[in-house]
Amino acid sequence: MRPYNFAAGPAMLPEEVLQRISQELFDWRNSGVSVMEIGHRTKLFQGLLEELQQKIKQLMNIPSNYKILFLQGGGQGQFAGIPMNLVLNNPQLDYFITGVWSKKAADSASNYAKVNIVTKTDARAIADKSTWQLNPNACYAYYCPNETINGLAFPEIPDTKGVPLIADMTSNILSYPVDASKFGLIMASAQKNLGIAGVTLVIVRDDLLEQQLAITPSIWNYKSLAACNSSVNTLPVFAVYVMDLIINWVIKQGGVETMAKINRTKANTLYDYIDSSNFYVNNVDQAYRSVVNVPFNLVNPQLIDKFLVEASNNNLKYLEGHATVGGLRASLYNAMPQSGVDALVAFMKSFAKANG
Ligand code: PMP
Repeated sequence: MRPYNFAAGPAMLPEEVLQRISQELFDWRNSGVSVMEIGHRTKLFQGLLEELQQKIKQLMNIPSNYKILFLQGGGQGQFAGIPMNLVLNNPQLDYFITGVWSKKAADSASNYAKVNIVTKTDARAIADKSTWQLNPNACYAYYCPNETINGLAFPEIPDTKGVPLIADMTSNILSYPVDASKFGLIMASAQKNLGIAGVTLVIVRDDLLEQQLAITPSIWNYKSLAACNSSVNTLPVFAVYVMDLIINWVIKQGGVETMAKINRTKANTLYDYIDSSNFYVNNVDQAYRSVVNVPFNLVNPQLIDKFLVEASNNNLKYLEGHATVGGLRASLYNAMPQSGVDALVAFMKSFAKANG
């Protein structure tokens, strides 16, 4: 049996997708060659890009005035790519800092424009909106709806009073439905819910395609990318192909609404047990808990190494917290089935009994 992989990313892929990859690795779509050997400008691959864009639009209900782009450089590349593409006429930016990833994004943006911090949280909760310092003249407002490391999530989309909203959805894209029309731009690196590392999805509204700084490299220039099906340079063909298989898989499961129901049940299973035990603890206030990344700790942290070894022996892998915060973390992306969470909770119960 394959282990249940709770890694935060690169993360677990659906077994069905892995099987499909192995079946068609040598011969993709009857071309006689592997998808890894196919030119990104071939009709076959350009066809895949077009199909994939359409499917993403349908799955996420994205209005027609948005472009779907595939970039390299990961989420962190876009921490620079986003300001470079947008600030030409208005170098004033709003950033919500709610964890490591939004802090890194704000630090990067400050190389290109003046950054106003709307709010800065501790690890437990996001400050009430009545305290937010929004700049009504900002070029855009940026936030990370799901902070992967501290497991802190916005319960709703922030109202930025008409200022275009930008979201880093790297760890929550396709986990639950979002109203895409509320965003100027959505960015997500692929290695969690969109497949494998190497490609980053950018969904950008047409009116935001005209404000590039002259220093923007062509490979990150949204306008140039939109004009050529993201094919400014060689695309990471394999990562794009895997994204397509993942999108097909999500559609087959019943779409994002179905994923959301399954994800809610998975998260509740784990949080309910943690809250009911006096052996494990999660310190995030209930209203701000992530449904995707569940950080937790042992009341006696000295047992963490033992917990990780025994969990791994029970086929429950990669439960260590991020190196900057320690502790434990279970990431429950779409590919993690309910049976994985049930197995984790059963193990946690028996570990608590044996060591409590
Ligand atoms: N944003 C979030 C929310 C993330 O979780 C991560 C990676 N874990 C990143 C950005 C950075 O992505 P990448 O490693 O692709 O640069």
